[in-house]
Amino acid sequence: MNTKNRILVLDDDPDDTLIIRDTLLEADGREYKIEIAHRPCDAFAFLDQQSFDVVLCDYRLGASNGIDFIKDLRAKNIHVPVILMTGVSDKTVDEEALSVGASDFLNKSDMSSALLDKAIRYAIANAARQNLLSTVLSNVESAVCVMDEDGRPQLWNSKFQDVSSGQKDARHNDGNVDNFVENVLNSTGVLKVAGRVFEKNVSDLDDGRSVVTLHDVSSHIEALREREIAETKSAYLAKHCPLTGVANRLGFNEKIRQEIDAGHRFQLLNLDLNKFKDVNDVFGHETGDELLCKVTTRLKKCCQNGDYLTRIGGDEFVVLQRLDNDEEQSMRLAECFQQAIEREFIVGNRKLRIGVSIGISLFPDHGTTSEVLLSNADIAMYRAKANSESCIQFFDTELDNAIRKRRTMIADLAEAIENKSIDVHFQPLADVKTQKIIGFEALARWTHPELGPIRPDIFIELAEENGLIESIGNIVMNKACENAAAWPYPVKVAINISGVQIRHSDILNDVQSTLYKTGLSANRLELEVTESILLDNFDYALYVLRGLKNMGLSLAMDDFGTGYSSLSSLISFPFDKLKIDRSFVTDLDRQQRLKNVVTTCIGLGKNLNMRMVAEGVERQAHIDFLVEEGCQEMQGFLIGRPMTNADVHEYLMRGKGYALMENQKVRVAAAKG
Ligand code: C2E
Ligand code: CA
Ligand code: CA
Repeated sequence: MNTKNRILVLDDDPDDTLIIRDTLLEADGREYKIEIAHRPCDAFAFLDQQSFDVVLCDYRLGASNGIDFIKDLRAKNIHVPVILMTGVSDKTVDEEALSVGASDFLNKSDMSSALLDKAIRYAIANAARQNLLSTVLSNVESAVCVMDEDGRPQLWNSKFQDVSSGQKDARHNDGNVDNFVENVLNSTGVLKVAGRVFEKNVSDLDDGRSVVTLHDVSSHIEALREREIAETKSAYLAKHCPLTGVANRLGFNEKIRQEIDAGHRFQLLNLDLNKFKDVNDVFGHETGDELLCKVTTRLKKCCQNGDYLTRIGGDEFVVLQRLDNDEEQSMRLAECFQQAIEREFIVGNRKLRIGVSIGISLFPDHGTTSEVLLSNADIAMYRAKANSESCIQFFDTELDNAIRKRRTMIADLAEAIENKSIDVHFQPLADVKTQKIIGFEALARWTHPELGPIRPDIFIELAEENGLIESIGNIVMNKACENAAAWPYPVKVAINISGVQIRHSDILNDVQSTLYKTGLSANRLELEVTESILLDNFDYALYVLRGLKNMGLSLAMDDFGTGYSSLSSLISFPFDKLKIDRSFVTDLDRQQRLKNVVTTCIGLGKNLNMRMVAEGVERQAHIDFLVEEGCQEMQGFLIGRPMTNADVHEYLMRGKGYALMENQKVRVAAAKG
């Protein structure tokens, strides 16, 4: 070995140091580099400047001793092995020396160079092992401490030291590892030190010692806490309206379920703002949003502890309030809302006035499920909206059942449209003089799955009021044109067009594409419209009607005589024919007054150069009268009832294109003039 071991000898007796040096130098085959110190402070000065492999230290050092020197070394974090030497052997000193970490304790009197050499080699080897161990320990992630069987710390890594020092500030602790270990062993659950959280694990070794490890879980806990906060936050957002901060439909559903389960009486108030849509349309969404926030603030003021306010739609709020046995209570809250909303709002620099309609349902009186209660409060609210006297209405079983039926019907109709299960029947139109069939009117048919066939005037009106008429119109137009294109005689097909269709849909386009798709020629298509289309937006209606005529089809005015058409509008519109409403025709043989009306109509048609059609022809007397007055076309149960498309084929074939009168004896009398 060519590296010399560096030895520091500390002894206050200069003679002894020389003896030790000589003994060392006598050692066989081994070379030492030796420094001598007489006082601990000199020794520290050496240790500061260079590193040593071993310190040989006399036990007695003047006023101090070797044990204190070792303690000072450790306190300064210097881990050089120390071999203590003494003149007199003493068992207690011997033990104390080992307990403070001395590598060996030798008696100066029997010290030989071989013995000293061996002690030094063992001390160096032990220190190397110790060193390796502490390197390992200081590189594990946890704070680790090994304890003897009495629980006294023997060995710990720097992390353990750090944690222990961290507890210095805490009460009853001075940062001393011994005390800290005692605290750790006595603690239950996680350990909190200087803002960090540690998980403690104590494992017992076979030889009676134990190891305590402290694992820093602060960052996990932080992550957990953050996740918890995020989850709480998103759960909150899911159940609340971001604009107004009150609960939304989801929050409401949860609340009402709880209340139903609790079984306590409560009321639901369904609030719908009046004229809110106008504010949004005219002043924009920003103003609308701000108004909603102000509305919410005022509603909140009316609510008391326990009242649950939610915004379930654009301008729709629902409030759930528990009821005590106080009959007035329901009304008080509703009236507070009404007054709050009817007061003027100032949004930006605008003064806005809106109102509110309130429908109220009671649990359990008006329903025991959230769906029924909500829907009943909603129906009552619609009645409140329509009522000019009071904008607060309680659910009323009798009144509101009719509304509910209507709503169900609308939903069923929408479904029928979706499934295209609207059928088309055809009713023949005949020439009065020749009795030749000149066409068929297409009539919509709907068979409700439970209620059976529904009258068209009922479901057509329902469709017109609920935005469904355009779909029905398209279904009828497609089926009718497709069927007519395949009839054995090229007679006309007449289709009823609702005023709503003229106003809202692109009827010119629809007709054009239907003709193209079905291959029906335009001159076989006739559209029937009522006078009502003349009433609003005259110019636009005129534009559409002219467009239709330019496509080559003919136009009939339906239900003539029942509306308010003025002569001037009749002249402006390019109608080809007028259909005299059947209410004038059916009883004309029994009432002279009706006869006069029909005669006048026919005369008017002649003068305006329009063909006249009489609807509701049911008896021979009707035909006789129409022939006499020179009416050109007729339609009614006598000529034929509305029939399926298959029956149209049969009807045309059997009659060879002529009307198959119900009563075969019917004959056309001599025409007038
Ligand atoms: P409308 O256009 O006046 O159709 C004629 C109605 O009179 C039909 O009733 C027809 O069955 C009935 N009718 C025909 N001849 C006689 C008769 O001799 N005596 C009696 N008492 N009635 C007769 P329906 O099919 O119930 O249709 C009622 C109304 O529903 C139609 O009146 C029409 O305004 C509307 N409608 C029917 N289908 C459609 C459609 O596809 N679109 C639109 N927009 N409306 C339709
Ligand atoms: Ca018609
Ligand atoms: Ca009619």
